[in-house]
Amino acid sequence: MAAAISAHNEGARVLLIERENRLGGILKQCIHDGFGLIYFKERLTGPEYAGRFIEDFFKRDIEYYTNAFLIEARRSAQSGYELLLQSARGMIFVNAKTIILACGCRERTSRQVFIHGERPAGIFTAGTAQYLVNIMGKMPVKRCVILGSGDIGLIMARRFTLEGAEVEGVYEIKDSPAGLARNISQCLDDFDIPLHLSSTVTRVFGSKRVEAVEVCKVDKNFNPIESTKRTVPCDALILSVGLLPENEIAESLSIDIDPATKGPVVDQTLMTNLPGVFCCGNALHVNDLVDYVSQSGTSAGIAAAGFALSERELVPVTYDKNDFLYALPQYYDKTKGGDLTLYFRSRDDVKKRKVEVFADGKLLKGKKYSRIVPGEMEVLNFDPEKEDFTGITVVMSPYG
Ligand SMILES: Cc1cc2nc3c(=O)[nH]c(=O)nc-3n(C[C@H](O)[C@H](O)[C@H](O)COP(=O)(O)OP(=O)(O)OC[C@H]3O[C@@H](n4cnc5c(N)ncnc54)[C@H](O)[C@@H]3O)c2cc1C
Repeated sequence: MAAAISAHNEGARVLLIERENRLGGILKQCIHDGFGLIYFKERLTGPEYAGRFIEDFFKRDIEYYTNAFLIEARRSAQSGYELLLQSARGMIFVNAKTIILACGCRERTSRQVFIHGERPAGIFTAGTAQYLVNIMGKMPVKRCVILGSGDIGLIMARRFTLEGAEVEGVYEIKDSPAGLARNISQCLDDFDIPLHLSSTVTRVFGSKRVEAVEVCKVDKNFNPIESTKRTVPCDALILSVGLLPENEIAESLSIDIDPATKGPVVDQTLMTNLPGVFCCGNALHVNDLVDYVSQSGTSAGIAAAGFALSERELVPVTYDKNDFLYALPQYYDKTKGGDLTLYFRSRDDVKKRKVEVFADGKLLKGKKYSRIVPGEMEVLNFDPEKEDFTGITVVMSPYG
């Protein structure tokens, strides 16, 4: 929404696509407070924070689809992108000059942390548990163990306790907590929930439903210390073991992904290596605070609007493939104007040839070559001048 609002403010025509039935993203389920201290200088809950943006969004005439899942994006043959959406109204095709990827992140699962055992009911990511409790009004646990000290796990430890469940403890493999200090204090210390550092869960017991988990201390290389293993009876294991940027669309567009952030590689405008594709929020890298997510959305929106609104009038640069291996660039942008530096290679080793460049039949540049060989790239520089022409043609012919 931050990106949509800022792009709209810059004069771009914007379409926001959301797969859920309401706007607001993950904030809808984050009913605790502490959001917005930087952006609004206030302590807000997640829904309140999202509500501010929703209000701002609906003050503007911005198009949006909810219940619409972006399943594919590809480069269009002309310029820009073709998007394929699966929606309540059927399949929808959208053409866009730019895309801002703001798909958020996803949670790591038990498979990604290699916990052995059956796959009984009762293993939830913290976000799923948060959704069940805060949105669906269901209590999925009576006595649980939390693996990982990420913020969502800490917040859910407090939430479960307030709802009458027992949280046996939070187990963190590292020797320091992953979540914010304020969440350790307000969610664990205030409720006497033990935090076990340098500890992990190695096994899950139960076939239909979780009955217990095996926990133990780890050494400095994160190897379980056998002698410390113990079994904790519980009906649920809650995983708070990290978030990963949601990048299926970026990957399908073959956008470069940084192995460190797991999100796209971007420049200072938050544009990826694919021209016109921008990325912000948790899809770019996992943020601690939503305030930074909104800031990056605003920046990406401004930059994407600038990109989309910069007029381009491309005319093709064509050549005879029998004479040339290639000529580059393939297009000239008339709105930018300026010199055209043409790079080309001949297809064969030829002698006494002239190469001429025409704009709709008018000669712009010509040069005679006593010999042209494919192995040597040739360069011609000239100014096409801002005249009304629809195409540039490069021609090779014999002389003398
Ligand atoms: C479970 C969970 C709990 C969190 N709790 C907190 C917290 O308490 N405090 C805090 O500061 N931060 C929290 N965060 C971090 C939080 O995600 C960010 O602070 C921020 O809200 C992320 O904003 P976003 O717009 O990048 O992503 P999201 O809010 O995740 O929004 C992404 C949106 O994109 C939509 N989407 C994704 N893919 C597609 C597609 N292909 N087609 C259509 N729509 C799509 C999703 O439905 C979603 O609405 C939490 C994150 C998670 C995962």
